[in-house]
Amino acid sequence: MVIQSGAGKIISRKESMNERIEVLRRLQSIDTNIKRLEGDKLYRGYDVQKKQNQIQQKKQELAEIGEEIKSFQKNTGIKELDLKTKEGEIEKLRIQMNQIKTNKEYSAIKNEIGGKEADKSLLEEEILMMITKYEEMQQRQGSFKKEVEHEESQLKGLQDRVKADLEKTENEITELKKKRSEFTAKLDQDALQHYKRLVSHKDALAVVSVVNMVCQGCFMAVTAQIINQLMAGKDITFCHSCGRILYLEDSSEN
Ligand SMILES: [Zn+2]
Repeated sequence: MVIQSGAGKIISRKESMNERIEVLRRLQSIDTNIKRLEGDKLYRGYDVQKKQNQIQQKKQELAEIGEEIKSFQKNTGIKELDLKTKEGEIEKLRIQMNQIKTNKEYSAIKNEIGGKEADKSLLEEEILMMITKYEEMQQRQGSFKKEVEHEESQLKGLQDRVKADLEKTENEITELKKKRSEFTAKLDQDALQHYKRLVSHKDALAVVSVVNMVCQGCFMAVTAQIINQLMAGKDITFCHSCGRILYLEDSSEN
């Protein structure tokens, strides 16, 4: 770049340089906002994912309770069959007892019946306990089902809110991208390339101010030569330490 002689030319160059820095700063602000909004979008998506995972886990637990109840029902059924068998045996013995002739046979069968009756009442007790436990399990299943339903309605609300948020964010991003292309159109290829390169390497912070001769990107002192260069407003000025594009803060200008 050749600087033409004449004060007027230099001033207009300086003005165009300031304008270029201004465009770069606006561009950076837009890019920072876009990045933040993209982050928000991701974060909101995680919220839904997290809730869905929680519900999935609860449903799994609910299914396990269901299985537990099923096998419990089966076991209770087996015990009830045992009880029926026992009752049948006792009934048979009673009929036999009526046809008995001797006292010896009578007392033997009576003993046998006594043993079976004891088994029977043990079984009845067991079944009663199982029924109580079964009712408890059903209650637990019921309240768990309600919990899952509640969580699901919460998820629905969350999904609706997130959907609305995402739409809003998406619109904001679209607007910002429109603005962004307006600003990039104002920049020359050289400045744009420098900017893009820095954004990709410096955590999106490509344009930084110089305050009290210190670069606000890396907080290293800049040389007087750099200040002179910035005051002259010639080419794009880079920090010698971090390589970012520098500009003078309004207060330190003039
Ligand atoms: Zn620096």
